Amino acid sequence: MNDTGSTLTHLQGALSGKTYPAEGLIGLDPADGRPLLARYDLEKATRTLTARSLAARRTGGLWRWAELLPVRDRSNVVYLGEGDTPLLAQPRLGEALGVPRLATKAEGLNPTGSFKARGMAVAVSRAVELGVTSFVAPSAGNAAGALAAYGAAAGSRVTVLTPVDATPANQQEVLAMGARLVLVRGLISDCGKISTALADRFGAFDVSTLKEPYRVEGKKTMGFELAEQRGWRLPDVIVYPTGGGTGLVGMWKAFDELEALGLIGTDRPRMVSVQAEGCAPIVRAFERGEHFAEPWQDAKTRASGIRVPSAVGDFLILESLRESGGTAVAVGEDSISEMQTFAGRMGAGYMSPESAAALAAVPALLERGEVGRDEEVVVFDCGIGQKYPPPQDLPEPPIVDPDDLDIDALAHSLR
Ligand SMILES: *Cc1c(COP(=O)(O)O)cnc(C)c1O
Repeated sequence: MNDTGSTLTHLQGALSGKTYPAEGLIGLDPADGRPLLARYDLEKATRTLTARSLAARRTGGLWRWAELLPVRDRSNVVYLGEGDTPLLAQPRLGEALGVPRLATKAEGLNPTGSFKARGMAVAVSRAVELGVTSFVAPSAGNAAGALAAYGAAAGSRVTVLTPVDATPANQQEVLAMGARLVLVRGLISDCGKISTALADRFGAFDVSTLKEPYRVEGKKTMGFELAEQRGWRLPDVIVYPTGGGTGLVGMWKAFDELEALGLIGTDRPRMVSVQAEGCAPIVRAFERGEHFAEPWQDAKTRASGIRVPSAVGDFLILESLRESGGTAVAVGEDSISEMQTFAGRMGAGYMSPESAAALAAVPALLERGEVGRDEEVVVFDCGIGQKYPPPQDLPEPPIVDPDDLDIDALAHSLR
């Protein structure tokens, strides 16, 4: 075996606290059907994972954090370039939104164009290590693309279930990479039920969000990188468009691990969940002071990655918001669409509607006094815009015929 140096010790029920061996293939906590979290020998990790050793590592992307990842043998690592995305200062956009010290974490630069690659890279690699050869998952779109890519790279079979209205680009990439695609007339939650039932029937491993312990491990590396990129100091506020909440839960866990390693202190950012007004179960539960979120009826938003009516890790999301002194905000569909073009014009790139939703929450947070003008705010730009239907009100481009062109008229119209 070519040891990665993983210090994984066991799994622990996030709600039950019960412990389980890490070497078995296991999904949810058998005690209560809630998520399991991976635990590490942090003492041991401290010996080799230091600011210095990290900076010198040649292994790629998020795999630099091998001690705090579950894969034990390097030969099982499926690496397509995931992780180490830049943290981009956005002074112009920030000034316009009222927070000049705004930065975005450019997750669209991951393979398959979203941070779903992080979770799937680690979940697929670890599952392969434990003997899995066939995967199934429900997805709003981006997770399907990522699973198709990593499954194909691992030589595994992949089946994904997406709502019938998943964007054509997402459907095409899945099919092009050889995965089986099933379109479901329903929501992601319906896809999830079918996914679980199918997994039982044909012996595939279900990699639904937080229904197995390792996608969250991949996504927690966003928290590691954020600390490292900022010189081991976390920002004041993290704004995160929240669906299943893997990233939020993962980063919150990552900060505790970094503190145990002595890489950061006790300061934490205020974590902010952003959802769409048409599907805001976490925002509603946060406002009501509840520990679990009731499923949202008739979920609707074009930000499909956050169209998640019910999350199995709801209590973990709510815990991180409350423990951090953060909050939860819902934004309207129009503001999502407007922010997509506004952010692009301010130089932040063509971002996904989910990323735009997170940015659109910033003015509301300022107005409510939840964020101060001088604070350092990091907004997660979770994916590229190209896979989605276009935002509203794009201008109509002129069409010209090169053989019959009035160049002066054209020049004039473009002036
Ligand atoms: C999946 C997804 C989200 C939501 O991420 P979670 O960690 O599952 O809450 C946000 N934005 C995009 C682009 C996504 O694909």
